Amino acid sequence: MLAHLPRAYRDWRVPQAIGTLTEGEAILVGRVQSVKERAGRFPLVTVNLADDTGMIAAKFFGRRHLFGRFAPGDRLFVSGRVTRAGLLPEINVTAHRELRGDEPYVGEIVPVYGASKDLPTRTIRTTIAKNLDRLVSARVDALPPALVKQHGFPPLREAWFGVHAPRDPADVERGRGRIVFEEFFGIALAAALKRARREAAGGATPIEPPPDWYERFVAELPFAPTGAQTRVIEQIARDMRRTAPMNRLLQGDVGSGKTLVAAAAIVLAHLGGLQSALMAPTEILAAQHAQKLAPLLLPFGIAVEAVFSSLGTRERRTANERIASGAASLAVGTHALLTESTDFARLGLVIIDEQHRFGVEQRARLRAKSAAPHTLYMTATPIPRTLAQTKYADLDVSIIDELPPGRTPVATFVVRENRKPLAYEFLRKNVEAGHQAYVVAPAIDVGETALSSALKEAEYIAREVFPDLRVAVLHGRLPSKEKDAVMASFKRGEVDILVATTVVEVGVDVPNASVMMILDAERFGLATLHQLRGRVGRGAAESFCILVAPNDAEVIERLDVLVETNDGFKVAEEDLRLRKAGVLAGTTQAGANDTIGNIVDDFKLYMEAKGSAEAIVSADPELAAPEHLSLRALIDDVAAARALLVTA
Ligand code: ADP
Ligand code: MG
Repeated sequence: MLAHLPRAYRDWRVPQAIGTLTEGEAILVGRVQSVKERAGRFPLVTVNLADDTGMIAAKFFGRRHLFGRFAPGDRLFVSGRVTRAGLLPEINVTAHRELRGDEPYVGEIVPVYGASKDLPTRTIRTTIAKNLDRLVSARVDALPPALVKQHGFPPLREAWFGVHAPRDPADVERGRGRIVFEEFFGIALAAALKRARREAAGGATPIEPPPDWYERFVAELPFAPTGAQTRVIEQIARDMRRTAPMNRLLQGDVGSGKTLVAAAAIVLAHLGGLQSALMAPTEILAAQHAQKLAPLLLPFGIAVEAVFSSLGTRERRTANERIASGAASLAVGTHALLTESTDFARLGLVIIDEQHRFGVEQRARLRAKSAAPHTLYMTATPIPRTLAQTKYADLDVSIIDELPPGRTPVATFVVRENRKPLAYEFLRKNVEAGHQAYVVAPAIDVGETALSSALKEAEYIAREVFPDLRVAVLHGRLPSKEKDAVMASFKRGEVDILVATTVVEVGVDVPNASVMMILDAERFGLATLHQLRGRVGRGAAESFCILVAPNDAEVIERLDVLVETNDGFKVAEEDLRLRKAGVLAGTTQAGANDTIGNIVDDFKLYMEAKGSAEAIVSADPELAAPEHLSLRALIDDVAAARALLVTA
């Protein structure tokens, strides 16, 4: 309850003079001049109120219980929205209070809470006000006094009262500063502790490759690695040289060449006598990894084994045997890798592709197949630098910020729904030039929603728009054998237009595809759209992304971000900024994992908290000193910090 901070405040300390009112929210105190009551289906009480400066008509809509309640001479406090339609200004009253005789009006700053229909802000406000004292008394004052002093923070109690029951607007800022710092400090402490424990525990096999290994690796490649790839591989090699297990997140936009980096890590592990496991979220992706990695690993004699749930029992057993005996140096697979029957002889490197698609527990289960494996997480979803700090606070982060040469950016357009035929024409031109195209829809089937569906769209375009072209459909409800078959024929060029749901989102690589058309584009997050766009532009041909959306200024503004940039990090930052605006406008429900602090706006505060936390943990890695015991309570108090510590 405490952590549910007000989203706004109404300053109801000083009533406004009626004569000075302008349109908008206002509060005032006036004396009743006359009362009019209108019964019927829409009851209305109109009260003319006056002070020394003027008169206003206060309207109480739909409040039959106020009939007979007011009489000339009464004093009323009212708040509401002022309009100036007729001769007399009007105020549509949302709250009022009767003041006796000459009772002075005692105003306050009223907090406004994010609310819902079932739990209105008024209920939240009174509940918090009633319990504030008790709630605050139950908090442990855990922030080291030195930090409180250094930052000039108010005491704990004052901070919480400052945000929930401020007497002055400045109380809010002061209180919030301390509360956010404390939260960030908890997260940073948890991250520092976790890191310290990992370092202290060690247990990973250090890998000292022959000095010429990288030259040998590069010599076999069909192209030269980009500067970014080389830099990241160096970071990984440095990590793997240590007994503290690597715990690294590799971020790189679609097409930035993460596979090559993964291959280098696998080669390193192999040279150190260790096996590797690579887990991807879908069979299509895992198969593609196996296929792309095999030639890169062949020169080093690394045998690859695939583990899918669609494998027959016998094939599965053979694969498991080769992994258990160590004959296979690399196991590539889906969740199927997690089953107990897949046992490694000497697993030393775990790579998890699209790590956010797996649960914490699944990632931990793969890593549990070895005592202390080096771990590399990969993601094509760029996470803004700011967000990465709280979300992945205990990971080292590598970024591939350079695309392989020769890529042309994907030209992106927003097309209004009524101009869809033009987009189809454009698709046809590209197909006639020998390329392939994707059409993505948000839903699989025509259901209760009004969304475009892949099945309906496929049927429609196959019959009405492109009867002469080869159209296929791909979605998540197809059996995985069928999915793979469709994807394979698209890859072989036997399908011109692939109508799909977002199953084509991640990693699928068909260089000949040059157009990505997305229906109901407004239904997708910017990050997802960027991912989808990354399915094209993988070959030499000029590529296009067409976003079909309704004619709505807000939607178009959002989609324009993609029109303007091909840089995934910029898209992600902008997405975060727009979503944050949404949260502030009260349109988005805050998730359970959200922090009070806003990592974008409060980034400086986070970095300060991080600095302080690291200094404390480096001097006392287990927080064992008596003056640090309360810090454990602080970590326990912050959900995001707790989560960091309990996960592997
Ligand atoms: P992603 O980061 O999306 O997984 P991939 O590893 O699939 O990207 O690489 C995308 C494409 O770029 C692949 O076809 C790959 O062969 C190619 N590629 C990767 N690195 C380079 C490079 N340094 N120079 C040229 N092409 C590269
Ligand atoms: Mg990939």
